[in-house]
Amino acid sequence: MRIDILTALPRLLDSYFNESILQRAQQKKLAEVLVHDLRDFSTDKHRRVDDYPFGGGAGMVMSIGPVHKAITWLKDQRTYDEVIYMSPDGELLDQPLVNRMSSLRNLIILCGHYKGVDERVREHLIDREISIGNYVLSGGELPAAVLSDALIRLLPGVLGDETSALSDSFQDGLVAPPAYTRPEAYGEWAVPPVLLSGHAARIAEWRHQQSLERTRQRRPGLLDEK
Ligand code: SAH
Repeated sequence: MRIDILTALPRLLDSYFNESILQRAQQKKLAEVLVHDLRDFSTDKHRRVDDYPFGGGAGMVMSIGPVHKAITWLKDQRTYDEVIYMSPDGELLDQPLVNRMSSLRNLIILCGHYKGVDERVREHLIDREISIGNYVLSGGELPAAVLSDALIRLLPGVLGDETSALSDSFQDGLVAPPAYTRPEAYGEWAVPPVLLSGHAARIAEWRHQQSLERTRQRRPGLLDEK
């Protein structure tokens, strides 16, 4: 999977993709994340990518020109499955949506800033708008990183244990069971004995029951959907 991220603040994203699982995924050539500075596509002598809103009001609006040039430049080089704009009022990101998108090959993700982007970008240049939740952040960089991370960790070979993404929360419509590691007892706080029993079937059954119970307590809506 190749993800091209368009942003006015590329440095915000550097460290996130250069550590841990996401870095390894790129080293193994399973994923490629390229961050592009929208200012490089500005024709303004001060490299501006925003302007005052028509009709007045507070806040700046990102201009269509640099966004259009950047998208055109990328599309001239390869075919993209989707151009995505991260937006608070977009389709809410959840695991089923991530799963569906994880088979895509080439994606462009546009990060907004300030008051957002000129509406004509959304009308004419964007295929899909995604929100990471009903709250407003100051820029689309964290949302773009959230989406990219969720997608990349699903790619075959990225997680060490091939099955481990499947046992995460939401993959089977349940939240994950509790996990423990050494020591067996930390003062009076002990690990549930079944996990130390070595009995695979009993452990699997216990985990399943814990998942069900937790889902009932924390995300009852998931059980209604099943
Ligand atoms: N005026 C806009 C908010 C702009 S926030 C409104 O009221 O809807 C600035 C940018 O941050 C947006 O363009 C978007 O790219 C990003 N952003 C903020 N919150 C987000 C969220 N919950 N999900 C996805 N992107 C978000």
